[in-house]
Amino acid sequence: MPARSKPISVVTGAAGFLGSHLTDRLLAERHRVIAIDNLITGNPANIGHLAGNENYRFIRHNVSDFIFLPEERIDYVFHFASPASPIDYLELPIPTLKVGALGTHNALGLAKAKMASFILASTSETYGDPLVHPQKEDYWGNVNPIGPRGVYDEAKRFAEAMTMAYHRYHNIDTKIVRIFNTYGPRMRLRDGRVVPAFIGQALAGRPLTVFGDGSQTRSFCYVSDLIDGIFKLAMSDFHEPVNLGNPREMTIKQFADEIIRITGTESTIEYKPLPEDDPKVRQPDISRAKKVLGWEPGVSFEEGIIRTIQYFRESLKRD
Ligand code: UDP
Repeated sequence: MPARSKPISVVTGAAGFLGSHLTDRLLAERHRVIAIDNLITGNPANIGHLAGNENYRFIRHNVSDFIFLPEERIDYVFHFASPASPIDYLELPIPTLKVGALGTHNALGLAKAKMASFILASTSETYGDPLVHPQKEDYWGNVNPIGPRGVYDEAKRFAEAMTMAYHRYHNIDTKIVRIFNTYGPRMRLRDGRVVPAFIGQALAGRPLTVFGDGSQTRSFCYVSDLIDGIFKLAMSDFHEPVNLGNPREMTIKQFADEIIRITGTESTIEYKPLPEDDPKVRQPDISRAKKVLGWEPGVSFEEGIIRTIQYFRESLKRD
């Protein structure tokens, strides 16, 4: 295919964990990718392998400021820029609010100007500390707007509202993916999320820091499964939000025990206070994704975790 006739995709947050995996998938699908990231939480190491790729261009830019691209035609805008771990958005509350609000507005404006499809990376955090379990897309959520997580949750809820407004009033082809806890290579070892935290602690022989009594639950999806769902959603003509995640639910204590077992570490468990507004349960209902996209996750927990541990072992050697 000549380079000109390939689909052109813009990915914001392209040096992040999900943005970089999404970029790899789009390039494998023969898209050209214009990658944008201001690198405040993104990592250049995630995109180093793309240097010199003729179908890839990287632009260092904060998408909360106006996005100018000279291309006449763009086919897809994937808006994945945002601090995404609780520690990151506690440290960067205002950039988090801005990228969810102003960044989404700019990315939608770009999609409108270029007549591109728009895909919003939303989150299970739109459900907050849910009172309905498992979470279905028609649940409106239980979010504390003024709590420490509110900067992320409310920005993403605003982003969804803005996306639907552009769909309804400007006829933009928009998609909303609500992403549940996802893990895999390229997460930052020190981003504070439970998967890198426990694996890093286990590999260093330090105690695993379980917050609260560890009875809160999460459901972990391996990154390749998630990216597959996102690609299918982007190619669909479905405009309502779609949950993507792995319904296999476990408590954080069970997760710590699994990491100790699989790594074979001597580490113990140390209990720490539960952060404010930490959701007590989380599990996606993925019946919509199954029906609309024919998607469901295929990578087992054991397989995904082993690959992730291997990645962190290697990156610790390089540190
Ligand atoms: N957590 C923990 N120890 C850690 C980091 C996180 O027990 O060192 C818990 C956290 O309180 C939450 C769950 O693990 O209940 C998942 O946290 P994460 O930061 O990965 O993301 P969240 O799902 O809360 O957005």
